[in-house]
Amino acid sequence: MASAAVRNIGAELAFYAVLALALTLVIVAELIQRRDVLKRYTSRNVRTDVLYAVLELSHLEALLVLAPVAASLNAGIDAHLPWLRLDAVAAAPLWLKLVVTLIAADFGAYWLHRWKHAWPVLWQFHKVHHSQSELNVFTRFRFPLLDRLLDMVVLFPIGVITGSATVPLALYLLMVLRSCLEHSGQNWTYGPLGWLIVSPSYHGVHHSDAPEHIDRNFAGVFAIWDRMFGTHVPRGDKPLTYGLHHEKIPQDFLYGQVAPIHGLWKLARAKRAGSTMETAA
Ligand SMILES: [Zn+2]
Ligand SMILES: [Zn+2]
Repeated sequence: MASAAVRNIGAELAFYAVLALALTLVIVAELIQRRDVLKRYTSRNVRTDVLYAVLELSHLEALLVLAPVAASLNAGIDAHLPWLRLDAVAAAPLWLKLVVTLIAADFGAYWLHRWKHAWPVLWQFHKVHHSQSELNVFTRFRFPLLDRLLDMVVLFPIGVITGSATVPLALYLLMVLRSCLEHSGQNWTYGPLGWLIVSPSYHGVHHSDAPEHIDRNFAGVFAIWDRMFGTHVPRGDKPLTYGLHHEKIPQDFLYGQVAPIHGLWKLARAKRAGSTMETAA
């Protein structure tokens, strides 16, 4: 038991060390390429993203909120919807379990992401991620806790149906690194695999504030979903600028955490004002 715990701590430390080294290399490579990068990485916007990264990577949110909620959902499903626990790939080899889990979760994440852009209520949770105008490798972590909670609750049934596999730490590291890179604001793709894997160039379009890029390129890992469901748009030749299109919100970590609640309150107030005007007319 003790040696397992020591091994886990060792693996965790190795995870942080490799992640820190990889992100440092990416930032140094960016610094060599472009002079304005230093200004970007020392900006308040980026410091805010680093705070989100610390909160996620320290597992504080997971331990204090996400894991207890997941345990309650599991208990609720066992008590009231046991037939949902199909464990469709439970007996399959690990590699097949991982492939199915990854594809199913990415498919679900594509649609949830699309609904977040289409439905103003869900947009209040997601807009914090898009409020970053200085895209950088830490923007991958810019999600308020309420948005992470929403993702977990909505996508929870996918794991229940498939019988989700535990992702090995090395694969998780690769996934985190890939999503950090896609927020680097760089203009490169994965070459021949560019049609399949979301690259920095591809996801940069999703964060672009150009009218032709709005509500496009929603895919998380597999770019094919956008092509299948008609939401893909090519990057074009112009340099991109990023951020929210119709509103500005404070670049503050604490505000970001309450932004969904504030946004929902403003939505409800606008709706009430609208119905009052209709009644008066
Ligand atoms: Zn989005
Ligand atoms: Zn993003």
